[in-house]
Amino acid sequence: MKIGIYPGTFDPITHGHTDIITRSLRVFDKVVVAVAPNPSKHPLFNLAERLDMVKLVMKDVGQVEVTPFDGLLVDYVERSGAHAIIRGLRAISDFEHEFQMALVNRKLAKMVETVFLMPSEEYSYLSSTIIKDVAQHGGNLIDFLHPEVARRLQARIRSLKS
Ligand code: ADP
Repeated sequence: MKIGIYPGTFDPITHGHTDIITRSLRVFDKVVVAVAPNPSKHPLFNLAERLDMVKLVMKDVGQVEVTPFDGLLVDYVERSGAHAIIRGLRAISDFEHEFQMALVNRKLAKMVETVFLMPSEEYSYLSSTIIKDVAQHGGNLIDFLHPEVARRLQARIRSLKS
């Protein structure tokens, strides 16, 4: 069974992430979505909240496991018996950072491959950061987020403003 690990912050999960997970399942038998605490990114949602939203969005998709992960990604990949790291590649701007990370990870663990997948064009401009900005200014989130995730994001922003 080929297992891919899809790591990220998922603050919150967007249709761009979901698109990558769906595509990954055409290549891997199972995808483990590994949600990192990433305090340095100052996430809007805590780890438990982010995990809960990924689980909610993916609940009807078989062969997807959602788990927290901390520490060195390649250690986690080797420990879990997975075969590759999955990353999404959007515009050219993602490339340099992703290229660097993939090569550092290869240096650390030479058997761990990184697989890059391109999202559908309609999501290629989408990021959690942009969506949080749209939400902050009261924009419509329906094209970008699962309705319940959109509701939670709007509620979080309202509570921060009050
Ligand atoms: P990280 O902090 O690891 O970048 P993110 O949650 O922002 O965490 O992203 C996780 C992965 O999903 C990254 O590989 C990122 O490039 C990818 N990703 C995020 N949004 C999209 C999107 N709209 N289309 C394709 N890939 C995406």
